[in-house]
Order: sequence, then C-alpha cells, then structure tokens
Amino acid sequence: MSYLAKYDDPTGDRFGIPTFNYRFAPSGLCTRRQLAAKGLTPGRQPIAAQILWRRGKRVAYLFREDLARPKRPPTDAQLAALSKAWVANSTCPTCGTEYGHYIPRSLGECLNCHERTDTEGDPL
Ligand SMILES: [Zn+2]
Repeated sequence: MSYLAKYDDPTGDRFGIPTFNYRFAPSGLCTRRQLAAKGLTPGRQPIAAQILWRRGKRVAYLFREDLARPKRPPTDAQLAALSKAWVANSTCPTCGTEYGHYIPRSLGECLNCHERTDTEGDPL
C-alpha cells in the first residue's frame, strides 16, 4: 500500500469521519483557514471530513463550503469594547499619558514613570 493511499478513507470506515490525504480533499471542502481567506466561517456545521499529513501527525478539519456563513464584521459594541481596552492598556496609570502602544504589564506604568521611580526616592 502506498503512502499516499494510507489515510485515504472517503467513507470514514476506518477513522470515523471521511479522511483524505493532504492534497486529495474533494472540492467543496475547506479548512477553517481556507474559508477565512474567502471571508467565510464554518458557522455551526459539524466537521465534514479531515485531512491527514505528515504520517498522520498533522490533522486539519474540513468544512463544507456550501454550509459556510459569511464572516460578520465586528459590531459597533465590539469595536467600542476593543478600543476601550486598547485605551486602558495603553494609558499609563501613574502619569495618565496615552501611548500608541501597550504599557508593559510587568511595570504597570510607562517607562518614563518607571525610570523616575527607579532614580528618585533615595531611601536615605
Ligand atoms: Zn507614566
């Protein structure tokens, strides 16, 4: 039996769900990533099949493209929550400066404040 045929199980007898070798998946079945590239998501459909490669060590699940749903853009509320989190995470709690990047969590404040506390406050 050739390596290529090893995981070919279109009926799912051996693996429980239809299983194809990498590159041999029938058209109309896509991985989540392939669907995302087309602006689709699998939605609530079950896994239709799987592909195996690297001697069965790698598996990718396939979904039916005809059952896939268009990916919805994030709602205004989701966007608002995201930007709120962004502002909270990029604003220094010590000096209140808003940065274009996240405040390092390990410091809990911006580098300017961190350096100030480091150099100031001589214990003696
Ligand atoms: Zn600061």
